[in-house]
Order: sequence, then structure tokens, then C-alpha cells
Amino acid sequence: MQQPNGATCLAGVFGWPVEHSLSPPMQNAAFRQLGLNWLYVAFAVAPENLGQSLKALAGLGIRGVNLTIPHKEAALQYMDALGQEAEETGAINTVQLTEGRLIGHNTDGEGFWGPLQAAGFRAKGSRVVLMGAGGAARAAAFRLAREGAAVTLANRTLQRAERLADAVEAKYPGSIRNLIALEESRTLQENIAEAHLLVNTTRLGMWPHLDEKPPVTAEMMHNALIVYDLVYNPVETVLLQQAGQAGCITLPGTHMLVRQGMEAFTIWTGMQPSYEVMEKALLEALEKRQNG
Ligand code: NAP
Repeated sequence: MQQPNGATCLAGVFGWPVEHSLSPPMQNAAFRQLGLNWLYVAFAVAPENLGQSLKALAGLGIRGVNLTIPHKEAALQYMDALGQEAEETGAINTVQLTEGRLIGHNTDGEGFWGPLQAAGFRAKGSRVVLMGAGGAARAAAFRLAREGAAVTLANRTLQRAERLADAVEAKYPGSIRNLIALEESRTLQENIAEAHLLVNTTRLGMWPHLDEKPPVTAEMMHNALIVYDLVYNPVETVLLQQAGQAGCITLPGTHMLVRQGMEAFTIWTGMQPSYEVMEKALLEALEKRQNG
């Protein structure tokens, strides 16, 4: 690997905490593969330091950063302009520096959509059950609505689903079919029976709380269903195992994580990174994490 030198371009991620970010191995693998003299580092930026850290980017010549928890919404106020997804979702995960201006993007929607497209999913006329109503659900719901799907939102806290539904409906009228409480398993099952796509955007199924899983079993699914779990650790969640038993097409959250990173990479460099190279780096980093 090339050592950083005086000509190295810098990019990174701001988070708090940030040491567990999987973006450095993914992005650095893509820089290496394309022979770019770039380096991607994790910056531990406390919430109270976000504004001054973003303002310092231009002065330091840093080419761009990703933003992760807890900065995705707070960063909006510091941007000079926003991309469409950032504007719609009210959250930024990628900052681009252009002539000293800060442009806020959200690549989660594109990251979410890419694997569905690759799996042959057509949104128009399709019914989707989306479990969750947090940040990941927001990116997914807006994108599905924009592509023409009819979405059922299922969340533990119904008021949160209502707020998300109102925001999506305001922009894409008629895109939200109905709302259900996640524990109403009968209604959930009825909606899944009519759906073409089931998406988990909740934290249920995440390592190390593997016993806290989404309330959907193989018997509630059918073999014409695509099941997409945004949880990426473990790669094969209990939900995806159940979906496999029911004969569904399954998509793990690693696919979205790689694609949202590829999108950010292209925004900064104007180049197209290799999916396989970034995925390999991600899977190796995840494996290392699990082995302590
Ligand atoms: P978030 O904003 O905190 O939202 C969390 C969601 O999980 C809410 O809908 C919450 O329901 C639900 N939830 C949490 N604990 C629950 C429980 N015990 N029972 C039922 N529901 C529960 O989080 P987020 O940023 O959207 O992230 C959600 C998941 O998506 C995480 O696993 C994250 O790693 C993953 N993600 C993946 C990618 C990717 O690229 N693959 C990108 C972003 C996020 P309430 O509203 O009732 O609290």
C-alpha cells in the first residue's frame, strides 16, 4: 500500500463514537484498487464540535466526509446546498466540498435501491411491508415511494410511523397504504401475504442481541417475496434464514452498506469503485469484529 505523502487527498467519517465504523476499510480498499493517492480516516467528532469540524474541512483541503450517528440531521444547518435525497429525508450521510462550499447528500436511498434493482425488483404496482420508522426506514420509504411502490409501515411505536407516513405522503401522495403496530402479528401476516417485498429496517436481529428478532417467521412468508434485511451484522440474520426456508429471494444489509459507500466514493472522486473490492473489505472487517 502506498504511504500517505504530501500529495495525499483526505476523506473520512465523522461520528461519535466512530471507532467501529466499517467505512475506512471499504473506502481505502477502493482507493488502493484504483491506484488513487487518497486516504480515508475516522474522526471522533463530539456533537458540540460538529459545526466547527465541518467548517474546518475546506481550510484543511479535506475532499469530503461521511456522517454517521449522531450527526446526520444536525449537519443540515451547516450545508450550503443539499442533494435531492438529503432534502427529502432531512438527513445527510455524505458531505462534498466544492469550491469551498459544503454540499450535503444522502446516499442511503440509492444504497438501499441499488440491490433491489440488481435483484430485478420493480416498484411500480408493488406492495411493500417496511418494518421500522427510524433513519434507515426514512431513506427506504422515500425511495420506494418515489419509485411508485405502495408501502405498509409497521413499527413498534405507531406515532413514529405516523410521522414518517405524513412526511412521505406530503411528497408522494398515495404511496403509504396503511400503518400497523409491529406486534399485531395477524395484520402483519395478512399484509405480508399480499406483498412483493418485505424490508426490515428495525434494529431487531442485530448482533449481539440475536434473540431479539423481527416477529416474522417462515410460515408468514411466501416464495414470491423478496426479503431485504438492512441489518448487516450478522450478514445472515435470523429473518433471512427464515426467508430462505420459505423460498424467498434474500438480500442482506451488507449490499446496501457497500452501495451507499460506492455512491459517496463517486461523489468525491468522480470515479466508479468496484463493488466486489468494497464488499470483500467489508466482509473481512465484519469477520474480524466478530472474532474480537
Ligand atoms: P433508528 O433510527 O434508531 O431506528 C430504530 C428502529 O428500530 C425503529 O423503528 C425502532 O422502533 C426499531 N426498534 C429498535 N428496537 C426495537 C425493539 N426492541 N423492538 C421493536 N422495534 C425496535 O435506527 P436506524 O439508523 O434506522 O437503523 C436501524 C437498523 O438499520 C440498524 O440495524 C442499522 O444497523 C441498520 N442500517 C443499515 C444500513 C445499511 O447500509 N445496511 C444503513 C442504515 C441503517 P421504535 O420507533 O418503536 O423505537
